[in-house]
Amino acid sequence: MPPVIFRKGLDLKHAVAGVLAESYHSTLVQEIKDAGYRHDSGRLTVHLAREFGFCYGVDRAVDYAYQARQRFPSRTVYLTGEIIHNPHVNDQLRAQGIRFLSDASEAGKALGPDDVVILPAFGVTVSELRRFMQASCTLVDTTCGSVLNVWKNVTRYAREGFTSVIHGKYWHEETCATASQALEIDGGRYLVVLDKTEAQIVCEYIRESHTPDQTRRAAFLERFAAASSPGFDPDRDLARVGCANQTTMLSTESLAVGEMFREAMRARYGEQELPVRFRAFDTICSATQDRQDAVLQLLASVPLDLMIVIGGYNSSNTCNLARICAEKVPTYHVADPDGLISPAEIRHRSVSGKREAVSSDWLPSTGPVAIGLTSGASTPDNLVEQVVRKLERFTGPAA
Ligand code: SF4
Repeated sequence: MPPVIFRKGLDLKHAVAGVLAESYHSTLVQEIKDAGYRHDSGRLTVHLAREFGFCYGVDRAVDYAYQARQRFPSRTVYLTGEIIHNPHVNDQLRAQGIRFLSDASEAGKALGPDDVVILPAFGVTVSELRRFMQASCTLVDTTCGSVLNVWKNVTRYAREGFTSVIHGKYWHEETCATASQALEIDGGRYLVVLDKTEAQIVCEYIRESHTPDQTRRAAFLERFAAASSPGFDPDRDLARVGCANQTTMLSTESLAVGEMFREAMRARYGEQELPVRFRAFDTICSATQDRQDAVLQLLASVPLDLMIVIGGYNSSNTCNLARICAEKVPTYHVADPDGLISPAEIRHRSVSGKREAVSSDWLPSTGPVAIGLTSGASTPDNLVEQVVRKLERFTGPAA
């Protein structure tokens, strides 16, 4: 039996609107927006970035998940894993009775036509999709259009004989799904580079590829073993490259990585060969770009004592917002409002150490304090409200 696939919702948008508003929206955040993204309370001023929180893709994915639960009340509804990288949202979905195939208790689960499987906003690999289709599950596909756009480019690169160089995290679900698209085309290949340091290693290899060197080749293969397509041969597969990126990377870094590859290909093959050896498309999604632009604008427009960035520690776009802010002001990336322990202590993911840490004396104890606030694309507004309320308490007369 061919699977039934819902890609445009399940006609229950209005039916779930109430519970979504109750679970994720915030009256206070709306009031702050209406007041020019500024909130004054005693000695505290909160400046909210102009773009923050749920993006269009996450909004849609969460909406479809609730619709699926309501549409199939007596069937088992699964998510392949976290629908988005926010523990609170995932917990709320569990509370609705939605099960997670990524849980140890569901490992190796035999799926069948009665099961409903929700595909997350960042998509699934081709092999995962095949598994669900072969089992004739009902599928609710929430893959974001911006992710589909990356897949389109990667597929085209593979068809035209280009290796996809993906600026991203090779272990991230979205990048795994994107890379799997390249392999669907006969001869399709990919290489994932995490940052400019890794891009530099690959670019040096390209520049020096006219002089074969087995030691260099072995080191390359070892370094990128987990980040490249099976059988990847740098001497063969870096002769024609097309750049793409995970949608939530730091856009300035993605652009820089693309330019590094362009220059390396130019240096190795010459200007006249560039059109047949190098391709690039900026596949950072507009929501990620808007959030990054908004914090840059906030940082440039008002003096801040510190910045708080709210979002899951495994949320790529949130981590990148924190990186941008940390270059300008003391920045605390908190997973949720519980991270604000007291006026004296804050639990956060250190931007430089990339580990959770508890810092002391993070909040000025006297005088006016100006705090910038933003949240990642998978953070609901009610968590932003809770952070603002805590800041009010911590800076209030009784604190
Ligand atoms: S961050 Fe961008 S690509 Fe990811 S779900 Fe949101 S809009 Fe889509």
